Formats: sequence, structure tokens, C-alpha cells
Amino acid sequence: MKAILFHQHGGLEVLEYAEFPTPQPGPGQVQVQIKAAAMNRLDIFVRNGWPGIKLEYPHIMGADGAGIISAIGDGVTQFNVGDRVVIDGNLSDGTCEFCLAGQDNMCLKWALLGETVRGTYAEYVVVPDRNVLKLPDYFPFDRAAAASLVFMTAWHSLITRGQLQAGESVLIVGAGGGVNTASIQIAKYAGAKVYVVGSNAEKLKRAETLGADVLIDRSQGEWSKAIFQLTQRRGVDVVVDNVGAGTMPLSMRAVRKGGRILTVGNTSGPKFEFDNRFIFTKHIALIGSTMGTRTDFATVMRLVFEGKFAPPIDATFALKEARRAHERLEHGEFFGKIILAP
Ligand SMILES: [Zn+2]
Repeated sequence: MKAILFHQHGGLEVLEYAEFPTPQPGPGQVQVQIKAAAMNRLDIFVRNGWPGIKLEYPHIMGADGAGIISAIGDGVTQFNVGDRVVIDGNLSDGTCEFCLAGQDNMCLKWALLGETVRGTYAEYVVVPDRNVLKLPDYFPFDRAAAASLVFMTAWHSLITRGQLQAGESVLIVGAGGGVNTASIQIAKYAGAKVYVVGSNAEKLKRAETLGADVLIDRSQGEWSKAIFQLTQRRGVDVVVDNVGAGTMPLSMRAVRKGGRILTVGNTSGPKFEFDNRFIFTKHIALIGSTMGTRTDFATVMRLVFEGKFAPPIDATFALKEARRAHERLEHGEFFGKIILAP
């Protein structure tokens, strides 16, 4: 098969469009012919590498994908060759205490497709059958691939972990990015009042089309003060902060007493300081999570199929154009998912 490989970490130049042996499904696994793979910011980190990362080279990136089942392994009964499916990139063993409790995204052997295991930047990928979900006939591959990781992640954070309720107020820090745009839609769907702080008017306009109720332009002054004024000095019930450095102290100001701050990442860097007095004097719950469970995946994807959520797509590139696609992911001003179509 053709795939995008790299043999060492580095810049765009390490990405190669080349031949690689087509993976074959073992017991309980399915082989999926990829029709659309969606890119995530994580892919840049994987390509660049980090201290301690251990990969089997050549590596193939890609956590998100959708396609057609092209072969099945022994013991697979729920799927047939020809089924249209979307892939859940969370790999778990299905047997540890967390998996048995339905918390498979906390699996002791958890791994993410494309991060430490060869992923979807390829014509074919093999995954356990429990990691695919059938697509309705009418639903396009690119939308499914674009939705899966970010909507599952946002759903797990806001609904499963954050217990967001109708009538609550939510502040989302950042108007761009896949998880934030998914969070806006999910918070609105849950019946919350959605505040979004963004870096410019264009991004805020897009946030508004996704359902944001109150738009705050970051360039117009300290946004935690704006929230304070807009909420009659109360603060919001929930803050979604996936930025981190520079924003977390402001998020702690913007959240109400007894409120929750949700985080699934840190786009501005992993280490930052905050004043711990905010945590205890305001009774703040700081709630972290990553990815989502299989239940979250099935739940949120059903809503995506029903048209409740619209994953925006920025651009589609042929598989062999992966360097250009990565360049856009790394440097471009993009909105929505970048898709590779093998
Ligand atoms: Zn497990």
C-alpha cells in the first residue's frame, strides 16, 4: 500500500510518500481501506518527537479515519467486508480494571492510533473491531473522520467529566481549534449559555455561527474582567481551558465560586503557574481528561450522524500531498479539519 512514512523525527522533509506492507487483520481485528484521514495538532508533535517517545520506524501518523472494511480477522462477527465505518483511535486492552468499568480511555495499556501505533495516513489500517462504528449510508467519510477525535474528546470533557447541565454558563477559551469548535456546539446542544473568548473578530464570527451566545475579543482587554461584568460579578459555571499558559490564571478568575475548569490539553505549552489560593478559596474543581470512552464515541457520533453537530472541514489533500497538508496545519490560518484522502 501507499502510506506517509517517517524514519526519523523532524520537519516537513521527513515525510515520505512511499510503499509499505499492507497490514493484515489478526483475530478480532478489521482492515479498513481509508477514504479520509483527519489531521490533529498532535500529529505535528509526533512528527517533531519529544524526549522519551519510542516508535517502531517507519512510523505512520493519523488518529482519525473513516473508510470501508476490506478484510476481517477470525472471530469478527459484527462487521462484514464492504461496511462503511469510522475509526475510534483509542486503543485499549478491554481487560484491565478501567476497561471493565467502562473507562477504557484510562486503560492501563492505553495507546492512540498514529501516536505510538501506526495510524491512518495510509491506504489501509488494522484496528480491533471494537474500534470501528458503522456509518449511515448517507454520511460522508470526510465528515466522520473530521468529527471523531475532537467531538469524542469534547463530549467526554464537557458531558461525562464536566456534568454540564442545561441552564449553566460555559466560557470557552479560544475560538479556533477542533476541540474548541466541538465544545461550542456540544455546550449549546446541552442547553448552556456559551461565552467564547477569541483572538480576532473573524474567529469570533465563526464561533457565533456554531452557536456561541456571547463573544469576547481578547484584544479588547482582560477577558476575565469582561466575564466578571457580563455575569454581574458572579463568574461562569464552567470554563473550558485547553490553552493553559497565560490563560489558566484568568480562567480561575472567570469561573464562579464552586465552578469547574475543564482541560484536555495545553496548546500554549504544558507548564504554567497559577495562584493556588483561587483553587481553595473559590472551591474550584479542576477537571482533566483525555480522549473519550467507547460509549462517549458512540453517543457523540450518533448525534453527528443525526446532523446535530457540524464538524467544519478546512481543506482536503491527496495522501501524497501530506507535506503541504502538514505545512498548512503547522503555519496556516485554518478553520476546521484538514483531511487527507488516500
Ligand atoms: Zn484496559
